[in-house]
This record gives sequence, C-alpha cells and structure tokens, in this order.
Amino acid sequence: MRPACSLLLTFALSLLCLVMEPARAQQLLLFQNQSTAEFMGQAGADVARTAKTWSAALARLGKTAKTVDTAGLQALRQQVVEGKEARVLILPSAVVLSASERESIAALVNQGWSIFGTWAVGSRDEKFAWTGYSFIEDNFNTNVLADYDLAKTDGWFLLPVGETPLTTQLAAGLRIYMPKITERLLLVQPNEKAALAARGGDWVRQATMSANKAGLVTYSEAAGARRAFWGVPESIWDTSRAQFDQLLGSTLSWLLREPQVIKGNWPHPYQSALLIEMDTEDQFANAGNLLNMLESRGLTGTFYSLTSVAVKHAEVVKRIAARHELAFHAEVHDGFKDLPLAEQERRMRSMQTQLGTIVPAASKATGFRAPLESFDSNTEIAMRKLGLKHHAGSPGSSESTLPVFSNAEAAVPLQQRLVVLPRTMLDDINLLQMGVSDPSRKFNLLISQANDIHQLRGFGLLSVHSQYFGNDMPLTKAFPAFLDSVMQPTRQTWVTHATAIEQWWRAKEQVNLQVTASAGQLNLDLTNNAAPLAQFKVIVMLPKSATTLQVSSPAVKIDRLDDQRVALVWTSLPSGQTNLSIRLR
Ligand SMILES: [Zn+2]
Repeated sequence: MRPACSLLLTFALSLLCLVMEPARAQQLLLFQNQSTAEFMGQAGADVARTAKTWSAALARLGKTAKTVDTAGLQALRQQVVEGKEARVLILPSAVVLSASERESIAALVNQGWSIFGTWAVGSRDEKFAWTGYSFIEDNFNTNVLADYDLAKTDGWFLLPVGETPLTTQLAAGLRIYMPKITERLLLVQPNEKAALAARGGDWVRQATMSANKAGLVTYSEAAGARRAFWGVPESIWDTSRAQFDQLLGSTLSWLLREPQVIKGNWPHPYQSALLIEMDTEDQFANAGNLLNMLESRGLTGTFYSLTSVAVKHAEVVKRIAARHELAFHAEVHDGFKDLPLAEQERRMRSMQTQLGTIVPAASKATGFRAPLESFDSNTEIAMRKLGLKHHAGSPGSSESTLPVFSNAEAAVPLQQRLVVLPRTMLDDINLLQMGVSDPSRKFNLLISQANDIHQLRGFGLLSVHSQYFGNDMPLTKAFPAFLDSVMQPTRQTWVTHATAIEQWWRAKEQVNLQVTASAGQLNLDLTNNAAPLAQFKVIVMLPKSATTLQVSSPAVKIDRLDDQRVALVWTSLPSGQTNLSIRLR
C-alpha cells in the first residue's frame, strides 16, 4: 500500500484509494499559452503563480504533467493518438483562447480526451475581447450563472457533495475555507448531462442565493470524453491546501479513468439521513403533536427530555418510550460548559435516576443533548463514563455534514468513543428569530435546508422545541408538509432516530476496505470487525460510464446509482473477512 493510502485510513471516512501505477507523464498535459500570460500580466496578475500552484500540487500528489503551449496543442491535434489510454488536457485558468486553440481542443475532445477547466477558461478571444462563458457551457455541460465576490462575504466555504467521483476523499458538506481573493468565483449549474460535485455556502452552509445556484464544481461524460470544471481559481487553493489536494487528486483520478472504491455513508438504498428530534422541555405535553405526526407516517424520532419536567408527564414519557427514542436533555435547563467534570457527572447521574423513575429502562438511554448546546470536552468524557453513546451537538460539532467520533479522549479507541451528531440545520428558534413575517415562507426554509443536506448526501439534524409545538402554532402547522417532503419515496432519505444513526456509524467504521486493481479487475478485501451489517454498500466509481460489472459472489447485488457510480450491496455483510473480485468490462 502506498503511504498515501494508509494515511487516508486514519480519516473518519476510512475510504480507500487504489493501488495504481503512477500516471505516466504524457497522460496529463497542462496547457499554458502566451496570450493568457500577456492578458493577465496587463491586468496586474501574477501569471507565474498559477503554474507554480499547479506544479507544487501535482508534486504533492505524486503526479507529473507535461506542459504544452499553443504549438504543442496544434501538434497533438495532428498526431494519431496511440493506444486507448486516457489522456487529460488541463486548461488552468486559460482565460484567453484563440480560435485555433479552441479548434485544437475540440479535436482532442472528439478523440476522447478528458478535459479539466478552471475558472474563467476561454472567456476572451485572441484580441482579449470578452466572449462570455460559451466555452465553459459547450465543453463542460455547465452554465455559468453569476460571478461571486468573496471580498463581500463574511467567510465562504466550498462544500463537497458526498460520494461523487471527484470527492471520494472528502466528507459530505465539509467546510473548505476560501479566503478573500481578487478574482471572483464563478457560480455554476450543471446541465442535464452533468452533475454537481461541490457548491458554496457560508459557515451554516446557507448560500446567499438558492444552494442550487451556488454550484462550484461539476463533472460530466459526454461523447466519450470526461469533463471536470472548477469555478474557483488556483489562487484560492493554498489556504485549504490539504482539502484542495484531495479534491484535485480525485478529480484527476476520475479524468484518468482510474476506478475508485469507497464505503457508502448510508445503508442501501439511502442517499442521505435525517434525524428529527425534539428538545422536550417546557410545555412537555406538546410532544404529543409531533408523536402523532411521526406515527401516522411510520417514522421514529428522538426526544431529548428535560428530566425534571419529564417526571411530571409520565404518560407522555411512556408513549415516547414505546415507539421512539427517549434520550436526555439534562435534569435542569442549564448549560454544562466550563463546569468541573465531577459536577457534570453528578448532573448526568441525577438525570439518569430521574428518568428511570418513570420508565426503568430509560435510565440506560444512550443519547444526550446539552441544554443551550452548552458543553465542552468534559461533557463528552462524563457521558462516555456514564454509558451514553451519542451526543447531539451543535453546528460546530462537525466540520462536515456527517457524524464524527468524539475527540474528547484521544486515547480511547474509535469504536468506544461517543458518536457526535452535529446539528446541521437551523432549528425552530433560529427560524422564529428570523425577520421573515410570512410563516409559510419561513418554514419553507426547513424544506429547502433539508433538500440542501440531501443534495450533499449528508446527515440532517432538525431540532424542534416542545414549547413551539403547541396546537395551532406556526411550526406545528407547517410540519406535516415538511415531513411529507422529506418522505418522498424517490428521495431515499433515511429518516430515523439518533441511536439508529449512531449504531450504523459505529458499525460502518468497523469495516475496513482494501482495494487492489489489476487489468480489468478490482479485488476488494473487506474486514468486518463487528456483527453482520445489514444493507452495507461500497460505491465503485466507474472507469467508463459504459463499464459493466461482474462480481464473484451471488450475495452481492449490483445497483447502478447513476452514469458514473455503481453500488455493490450486501444484504448482510458477515463478520470477519470477505473477498470480492469485480470484473470490469
Ligand atoms: Zn433546551
């Protein structure tokens, strides 16, 4: 295994890269033309910087690229392409493209070359006249909607869509910081032939426009050629270098038609997950309204209960415990942050005892959510000590829209740590505080947020409060439409309680995947260090959209997810070793 692979294993994602021969030099060609250098120079830009950024990034990835200029491009066009190996032409912010350069590029694409364009590629002609974005639209199946000035933002992030061929090394919704730069980003939208691999958003992942219009990275395969487009210029890469390297590594792998295999984040057939939870505190009995809505739809939720109030509502608590997840929201509504460890422990023991007086088994409930989202690492240390398994945290609990393992105790093995569920959506209090007077518009935000998380293939955590869930309250009235929206059958969102998510996340982490590749074949070595795991899947990024797969085991179901991805699904992945060979045709 290459060192890069074993390093990757330490990521919470535990994804696997392939053991591949390093790409031969001639497979990656980096285009640099004099006219772009002249134009950028006139604009006061440091043109050498783009080239330096590329060569340094490629060196870190262990790849080399041959630089081609205008004459080199012309020569390539006239050559007969030998063999069928994939070749990739990179057009790094090549703003100025002459008519003949455009013809050469088109000819190479027609021969099946992959192309990779960044930023405002091809937006000026040889006279430096503005030509619009038709080059991007024609070659990358991507519409440029707007340019975006980062200098006017309070901090913007590139947010990867999970489980795409370009983001195999990045967690869904990971906040990749983008500094304020002089160039404007290009906000793009893939057309029907292309797909989105990353979009932009602020720290809470809201875009100032609809998230669908904040696209930044797209990919497509059309007429036999692969096409990747990044709407961000190279000048932004170095601030979040590790993440941009990972995005670049997978983008190049996909363009070079190297298969990539990752573990799926969610049980098959789900593409995203959603936890609906209630902080059940003041007006405790209002939980009944949410219980009715969930139960009539066959859903389960998690009710983090303030135990000193819960004891006055034994019937509601019993109803929750019968069909849903009963969990803790402390004994009184005070934060935990900065309290001594012993005091945090004392409070947690008290809540466990208190809930146990109503439902004895509830003293062993495994979920906790701190009042006011006020907690620190001692909170998680105390939780683990007292047998709790998951912590429903705050928007800052994970940099991605996926669960994470607690880092409160570095010495504790991963499988024994708490699973931390970040609150990835605005809650009802955020919505009520917003200066939007029309309630329907306000609560439509819930639906669009859930859609955004689903689009990222991430985990949504929606927190509502019992005191805002009374009969005829705006949230209560808006909620059925929200539930119906997330339950649309084609959507494949796993709507479930917190412990189901926690157990899945823990179990998936216990599966190690190693992949080796040989001509036309992939070999998967899976080691499941825990109990058999239902609906486990790996996702194979295909070398060609037309590739078909044959697997060595009838126990594995092949499910085509889209043009570029296939899921291999085990109804039950057994404990111990499982080997699978895959023939690619
Ligand atoms: Zn609360």
